[in-house]
This record gives sequence, structure tokens and C-alpha cells, in this order.
Amino acid sequence: MDYNQLFTEMGIESQKIEAKGAVASYIPELHRVDPWKFGLHLTTIDNKNYGLGDCNEKFSIQSIAKVLILALAFELEDDKLWSRVGVEPSGTPFNSLVQLEYEKGIPRNPFINAGALVICDILVTRLKDPKQEFIDYVRNISGNRSIDYCQETAESEKSAGYKNTALISLMKSYGNIVNDIDVVLDFYFYLCSIEMTCKELSQEFLFLAANGINPLTNSRIVSPIKSKRINSIMQLCGFYDEAGEFSFRVGLPGKSGVGGGIIAIHPGKYSIAVWSPKLNKRGNSYKGMKILEFFTTRAESSIF
Ligand code: GLU
Repeated sequence: MDYNQLFTEMGIESQKIEAKGAVASYIPELHRVDPWKFGLHLTTIDNKNYGLGDCNEKFSIQSIAKVLILALAFELEDDKLWSRVGVEPSGTPFNSLVQLEYEKGIPRNPFINAGALVICDILVTRLKDPKQEFIDYVRNISGNRSIDYCQETAESEKSAGYKNTALISLMKSYGNIVNDIDVVLDFYFYLCSIEMTCKELSQEFLFLAANGINPLTNSRIVSPIKSKRINSIMQLCGFYDEAGEFSFRVGLPGKSGVGGGIIAIHPGKYSIAVWSPKLNKRGNSYKGMKILEFFTTRAESSIF
């Protein structure tokens, strides 16, 4: 499909959609972002690129990076991973403590904070220099050396990381965290601070649209079955307690972050990234969800 015409329409539509909601304020550094930023970028598996607005400006991808730690940990651990974290939707906010106590320190899925902290614990065990090795892994996926952590954002989140400290302490008490909690938290805050543009993000995630191979670099990132499984977890768990709403409106596997970014995948076709910092009450980009709904409806291109 030629998306040029549709992108022209989306430029007009994006101006009509009022950006409701508010920029995340619990991480001081994120609160400084211009709320009116808006970028969108689509990359097809045959490397056609379509961009709009601020699609070449870096922003904090936050929880979207949880998909990439999952990909790496899944490669290293295979199905052993699932004894420490589940694959069920949580139906609770991203940083909720409630379920974790009932379920004895085993998080529902890898995309709520508790689950990502367990994945970080696994990587701290498996890697000698987790921060360096992980950022190298991320850069190699799309062959992009400019991808990096943002130290200010990581330190800013650390200074206000009370909920994450509570989550990891609770899991440690149930024996589901092996390493020192400060070391795991440090890795977690840094991974959430990674910055990318919408264009970089859509290129980074293209491997999940192409059965685990990044068509841009021709390198295999994960096996086809792992690619299938990561997509299915995104479909069911990528938007916290709004995963059903995203599926209902957009109909693609995806993952959001509190920086206002969303990545969505159409297996076999494309990946699409959007950034609009104002979040709805569930912590997902308000305008980002609306424009993706417009896109999959007009393009008649959801997985359903
Ligand atoms: N760094 C954020 C936190 O731990 C990630 C949450 C998100 O993007 O959903 O609170």
C-alpha cells in the first residue's frame, strides 16, 4: 500500500484531535517536556518510510524499552523465564502493588513495572556489565549507534522512585529478586531513560513485524516463535489497564510509555511509532491512541 495519501490526511486529522490529558509529572524530568509535541513514523518491512511532525526528535521511550529487555531475556532464558513472570493481563495500573501481594511476588506480565523489574534482575544475573551490554544490544537491533540512555532522566526517576522501590522490595521478600535491589533498580531506571525518535523507534521494532529478523540489517534478533509470543504479550498487556481499549480501537500489538510514546506492530507489514506527551488517566498517550485508531481504520489494516 502507498501510505503517502493517508499520511497527508493524518497530518490534517492530527491537528483536529485535541491533545487532552497531562504530561507525566511523577518523574520530574519528564514534566519539562513540551506537551504539544507530536510525531508519527511508519516503516514497512520493505523499508518504506513515512513520517509526520516531530518524528525526528528524540524523546524518552520509558516503558517501551520493556519489550527490548524481554526480547533479550527470552533469548537467554527460553521458557524458564515464565516461572518468574506470567503472561496474563493485569487489569491494574503499571505500578500497582496490590496484585503482587495476592500472587506471592510473581508479576502478572513483563510489561507492568513489577514484571520488568524481574526481567532486569535476570539480566543483572546474566550480563557482566548490564547497562553497557544492553545498550549495545539495542543499538545492534537497528544498527543505530546514536541510541543512548539519558542520565538526567534516569537520575530524576531514581530520586522519585518510591513505588518501584516498594515493588522490588515486596518481590525480594517473596524470593523473586536475586540481586541487590539498588543494582536492579539502577539498571531499570536507566533502561526507562532510553531516548529515540519516532523514526528510530519504528525501525528498532521492525523485527517484530518480520518474524524476528530486522529487514534493515538482515539480522535475526529472536526466533519466529519468540517474535509471535512477544507480539501476543504486547497485544494483551502493552497498555496496562487499557490493553482492551487499545485492542478494540487500534487492533494491533503495541506498547506505550509514560513519555507519551507508543509503538504498534502489524506482523508481516510494518511498525508504527507515535509520540504525543499528554497522557490519559491510564497513563497512555491520548492523541497517540486516537491517531493510531484513525490510521488502522482508514488503512483497513489491523490484525482483526
Ligand atoms: N519509568 C516508568 C516507571 O517506572 C515507566 C512507566 C511507563 O512508562 O509506563 O514508572
